[in-house]
Amino acid sequence: MNLKEKLNSLTDVEFLENENLTSYTTFKLNAHGDLLKVKSVEALKLVLPLLKNANRSYLVVGWGANQILPSQCSEMIIHLEFPVDLNQLETQKDEYVLPASIGLNHLTAHAVKFGLKGWEVFTGIPASLGGAIYMNAGTNLGEIGKLVQKVQIMTPEGDVREEIIHEKSFSYRKNHFVKPGEIIIGAVLNHLGVDETIPKKIRDYLEYRKTSQPLTTKNCGCVFKNPLKELPAGKLIDLLQLKGVGIGDLRISTKHGNFMENSGKATWEQFQSLVGLINFEMDHFYGIEFELEVKIPYH
Ligand SMILES: Cc1cc2nc3c(=O)[nH]c(=O)nc-3n(C[C@H](O)[C@H](O)[C@H](O)COP(=O)(O)OP(=O)(O)OC[C@H]3O[C@@H](n4cnc5c(N)ncnc54)[C@H](O)[C@@H]3O)c2cc1C
Repeated sequence: MNLKEKLNSLTDVEFLENENLTSYTTFKLNAHGDLLKVKSVEALKLVLPLLKNANRSYLVVGWGANQILPSQCSEMIIHLEFPVDLNQLETQKDEYVLPASIGLNHLTAHAVKFGLKGWEVFTGIPASLGGAIYMNAGTNLGEIGKLVQKVQIMTPEGDVREEIIHEKSFSYRKNHFVKPGEIIIGAVLNHLGVDETIPKKIRDYLEYRKTSQPLTTKNCGCVFKNPLKELPAGKLIDLLQLKGVGIGDLRISTKHGNFMENSGKATWEQFQSLVGLINFEMDHFYGIEFELEVKIPYH
């Protein structure tokens, strides 16, 4: 059997060849490629060794909220669709064992209901738990890494290992423990107690986000990492009066300089050109070259 036949023979796996992947990222740049929807941990255990033996490279896409896919992806795109049991969020606990595919929106709703201290740090971030841990997602209230106790990871051989989190496991928008080819399948999260001011804090922060970020347009979150905490990339882009500048259907947001918005049919090539233009200006005026925060295959 070839790889396609082997994948098609597996339970809880849906293999779609040269699929339209445009809707798999929030930026919605036109993209096509092979897609593998994996609906259980047991299935992933069988899938990864098959890909390894066939020498097929792959990439996980969570909510695709900080990821850009090129027009034609050569990597197999893996989308985790593990079952999510929301019943476990009906009651408050000290520790939560959660699948990588759960959305942070469910966790925020739980934090509002029970006033979980610490969980306000990821208010409003569009993400799967796996993607948020991989990116150490955060806001100016803090980062998710501080709440993660353990992470369950599947290796390319299909073995499951557990990573115990310590103070050096994460840094700014980065984890230091997921090795190439490994996939986060779940995590254990705790919180810092119960605080009755948390629901209001979360609601206020959601309102603040609406005024400061373009939440209703097609975008990929922050394009660049901040060069320094006190030197946000968006502020520097704003100072150079680049807000609103664009190519084709792609524009630097007028609301937040570190966001780019796709108003229709923006392309991967236009994205690369706009990044090049911003970095040219940054280098010319400030001697700075931005590092991309958004993930790009081969980057
Ligand atoms: C409107 C908007 C606002 C945003 N605001 C914020 C913000 O305030 N703070 C912030 O930090 N981010 C923000 N982001 C960016 C984004 O939400 C975060 O980076 C988030 O963590 C991405 O999660 P995801 O599930 O979409 O991951 P994806 O974007 O799909 O993937 C991100 C990276 O993680 C890897 N990955 C995903 N899942 C797994 C897994 N299970 N195992 C291994 N690797 C995995 C991917 O391969 C990729 O390299 C924003 C994005 C948007 C569109």
